[in-house]
Amino acid sequence: MTLARQHPQPTVRCGIVPPYLLQQLGYGDTLLLDDRIRSRRADRRRGGGAGDGDGGAAAVRGAWTVHDTGGSTDLPGRAVRSAGEPASGDAAVDEAAAGITGALALFREVYDRDSYDGRGAPVSLTVHCGRDYANAFWDGTQLVFGDGDGEVFARFTKAADVLAHELAHAVTERTAGLVYQGQSGALNESVSDVFAACSEQRLLGQQAAAADWLIGAELFLPGVQARALRDMAAPGTAYDDPRLGKDPQPAHLDDYVDTTDDNGGVHINSGIPNRAFQLAAVAVGGSSWAGAGRIWYDALTGGDVRPDSDFAGFAAATVAAAGSSAAAVEEAWRQVGVRPVAGSAAPATGGAAPGGPLRTVRVRRSGGFVGRTVEAEVDLGGGDERAAALAGLVDRIDARAARPASSPMPDHFTYEFDLDGQQVRVPEQDLTDDLRAVADLVLRPDGPADA
Ligand SMILES: [Zn+2]
Repeated sequence: MTLARQHPQPTVRCGIVPPYLLQQLGYGDTLLLDDRIRSRRADRRRGGGAGDGDGGAAAVRGAWTVHDTGGSTDLPGRAVRSAGEPASGDAAVDEAAAGITGALALFREVYDRDSYDGRGAPVSLTVHCGRDYANAFWDGTQLVFGDGDGEVFARFTKAADVLAHELAHAVTERTAGLVYQGQSGALNESVSDVFAACSEQRLLGQQAAAADWLIGAELFLPGVQARALRDMAAPGTAYDDPRLGKDPQPAHLDDYVDTTDDNGGVHINSGIPNRAFQLAAVAVGGSSWAGAGRIWYDALTGGDVRPDSDFAGFAAATVAAAGSSAAAVEEAWRQVGVRPVAGSAAPATGGAAPGGPLRTVRVRRSGGFVGRTVEAEVDLGGGDERAAALAGLVDRIDARAARPASSPMPDHFTYEFDLDGQQVRVPEQDLTDDLRAVADLVLRPDGPADA
C-alpha cells in the first residue's frame, strides 16, 4: 500500500491521539462538543458514575496488554507490551498496540463508550498465535491474531482496521448480541466492518466521500490479485485471484447467498448491510464516524436491535436513530433492496451436515475472518501416504462425543468432518487434538493452510 494508508504510531500515552492528528481531524468542534456526549460526561462527573474516576485499575482509560505466544496456541501467552509502554520493536506487537489504541479511542472519544463493555474493561490481545495461522478473532475474552500463511496472507495485525473489527465484535456481544448465524450474523459481521472503517478513516483523517472503504487492504502479500478482503462500497470486487477465487460478496438483497457454510454466509452477506452503511455515510455527509457511524452505534446500543434482528429490523433501527438524516438512511437501505420494518426478526437457519462416500475422510473448513471455504478429502483405500495415520485417528474418534458444546463465535473457523461416514460439525474452539490432527493432515498437503 502507499504511505497514505500507513497509520501513525501514537507517540504519547494510551488513549491520546497525537496532537497533530487531532488538529488534522478537526476535533474540538462538532465531534467532542456533541451535546449528548458532553452532557453524559458531565452527568458522570457529577454522579461519580461506575467505571469512571472511581480509582484503582478500572480507572485507567484505554488499558490494553499485548501478549505473545511465540507461535503456540496457548492463550494468552507472555505479556509483552501494555498501554503507556514504549514500542517493543516487534512489528506485530506494535501494530496491535497502535490498532487497539485507535479503536478504543473511536469508541471512547466519539461514542463515549469506555472499552467494549462500556466500563473500561482492559483489553487483552495476543499476537504470533499459531503456526501459519491466517486469521484473527475475538473469543469472548480477548483478541487473537495470527502471522498469516506466508503465501497469500501477511500477519493480521498489519491492517489497523482488523484490530477495530475484532474489538467491535466485543462491543456487539455486550450490546445488541446479534446471533452469529444467518442475517443477524451477517449484521454482526457488518457492524464490525462499519466500526473498522470508521476507526481507520478517523486515523487517516478521511471524510466519508473520500475514503476507499476497503477492509483488510494490508493483509495480502505481493503478487496476490486483491485490493482488500472486502470493499464496502463495491462488495464483490475486492479480489479475483487464482488462489482466492473471486470476492463472493453480494451488494444487493436480490443476490443474498443461501449457504450452510460460514454460519450461513455471515462474511458473504455482510456485503449488503456494508454497502447500505457506505451509501448512508456518504449521503449523511462529513465523516463516517461522526455521521452515519453515530447513527449505527445508537441503533446497536439503543435497544431496538435484538439478537435475532434481520436486515429489515436492523435497517428500521438505524432509520429511527437517524433523526434529521432518516430519509437519507432509508434511501441507502432501499438501494441495497432492504425495506426497513421495525422489530423484524428471523430465526437463524441451521445447516445440514454434508454427505459423502464411505472409506474417505473429508474436511471442509469455512468461515474465519476471511470467510473462504477450503475442502479436501483423502481416500483411505487408495495409496495416499496419509491414509494410515488418518485411519488410526478415525478409529479412535467418536464423532458423537465430539459434537460442539458452544455456539458459533465471531471469525472462528467452522470445521465439517466426514470421517469415513461419521459426520460432525465443530467450531474451531471445540476441536479436539485428534480432530485438529485430521484437519491438518487432510487440508495442509494441498496448499497453504490459509483461509
Ligand atoms: Zn468478524
